[in-house]
Amino acid sequence: MEIRDRYAPSPTGLQHVGGVRTALFNYLFARSGGGKFILRLEDTDRLRSEDVFVQNLYDTFAWLGFAWDEGPDVGGPCAPYIQSQRFEVYKKYAHELVGRGRGYYCFCSAERIDKIRQEREAAHSSESGYDRHCRHVPPEEASRRASAGEPCTVRLKIPLGEKPGDEPSTKFYDLLLGDIEWKNKDINPDPVLLKSDGFPTYHLANVVDDHLMEITHIMRAQEWLPSVPLHVILYDSFGWVPPAFCHLPMVMGQDGKKLSKRHGATSIDEFRRQGYLPDALINYIALLGASYEEGKDIYTLDELVQRFSTEKLNTAPAVFDYKKLEWYNGQYIRMKSDTELSGLTLNIAVGAGLFGAPGQRPDSAQQALYTAAMPLVKERAVFLTEIPEKLRYLFADPAMPAKEEFFPKKADLGVTVELLSKARAVIRSLAEACSDDEAEALIKAFAEKEGLKLGDLMMPLRVAVTGARVSPPLFGSLRLLGAEKSLARVDRVLEGLK
Ligand code: GLU
Ligand code: ZN
Repeated sequence: MEIRDRYAPSPTGLQHVGGVRTALFNYLFARSGGGKFILRLEDTDRLRSEDVFVQNLYDTFAWLGFAWDEGPDVGGPCAPYIQSQRFEVYKKYAHELVGRGRGYYCFCSAERIDKIRQEREAAHSSESGYDRHCRHVPPEEASRRASAGEPCTVRLKIPLGEKPGDEPSTKFYDLLLGDIEWKNKDINPDPVLLKSDGFPTYHLANVVDDHLMEITHIMRAQEWLPSVPLHVILYDSFGWVPPAFCHLPMVMGQDGKKLSKRHGATSIDEFRRQGYLPDALINYIALLGASYEEGKDIYTLDELVQRFSTEKLNTAPAVFDYKKLEWYNGQYIRMKSDTELSGLTLNIAVGAGLFGAPGQRPDSAQQALYTAAMPLVKERAVFLTEIPEKLRYLFADPAMPAKEEFFPKKADLGVTVELLSKARAVIRSLAEACSDDEAEALIKAFAEKEGLKLGDLMMPLRVAVTGARVSPPLFGSLRLLGAEKSLARVDRVLEGLK
């Protein structure tokens, strides 16, 4: 049997970690078995669904770099893949269910439904939901009234016992959670499948589509588990075999509560703006609720495809660890080539005005310098966004820091000026050295000859050249700036200090 699974988001919000985890696991599962991964838009809630969220979905996955085999944008044999374009289908099946005696027309007004709720509330009743009033309208009468145009919904008839004492239940098997059984009396009493305006509810559209789209596996977040008994009854009522179910562990914050904005970024947009790489996010998200037990942290998408199986899934909730994600991002930044990293951060640099006014693109010399500077920041960077700012000093003379910034430990102004004047003598040879090692050997020898501490010699020089005590590596900076510029900066500082 070919695996067919799907991601079925409702476009009512930005794509977030949880949704992407569901999509990714479905993608990996389908790919690992040579099957098909499908995107279906569940936009039956016309009030909450918005085009911007559909666009956000496409943008997010284009950026993440994995895609579905069938879907609204790419088509496929089960098109359309947008539920709002399939309303006629749901209507047909809802009426078919009534014909099979497994659903019924309900003529209750919204006011009546509301009144029941209020009365129960007043009586502190534990009962909830519909009172099954119209379940007892004789079918011929109900059909006649519905055909005559009386407003009605279609409800699912949850099987109840034939005789008193019967307690039917609904069983299903979850690939991860095992056998599950729900008493039918605990299932939403005869939920609406088709509303009076002809719109389907989630339950109807979801089940009909999973059947018609020949979905073999439903892999989704555990919060959907309570819908399963109802869906199983619905499949059965149509005479269909349900797909296999696999409910993924919840994603929690460090405090054990469901991951939410209170914990930090959750939308992929936000991570992207913060300077995360798509491959780092994918790698991290792929481990939320799955383990591959290889003592390995870094997996490419292909490696994940090769390894994924439902046996690798955990039942325990996954904890979203922002620090670990940062670590991943740093690792992925280090794996990029200089050209890639420069390309990935160039627009940020342009926006930050590294090459002139904000928005100004680099000329070819600036572009080359920018790319050549990547090794200076690559080893330490955690976010793409921090890279341009760290390199600003290469493109414009830094502002003159306060005098004390130049002072090595225990040194005063006089000593500092002397140290910097001495260092000036080796700047040319440092800038023209071929490597960090060569530069280091040079300055060490010089310090020894002068009887100076290496740190004392380097501190004022670093501040003069880069504008800060904490900066990217000094030798690399000197090489990129060149002897003339470096000397000019030191001279300007010497002037300023005196
Ligand atoms: N439309 C539901 C959602 O927004 C789909 C749940 C499911 O996968 O069945 O997540
Ligand atoms: Zn009714």
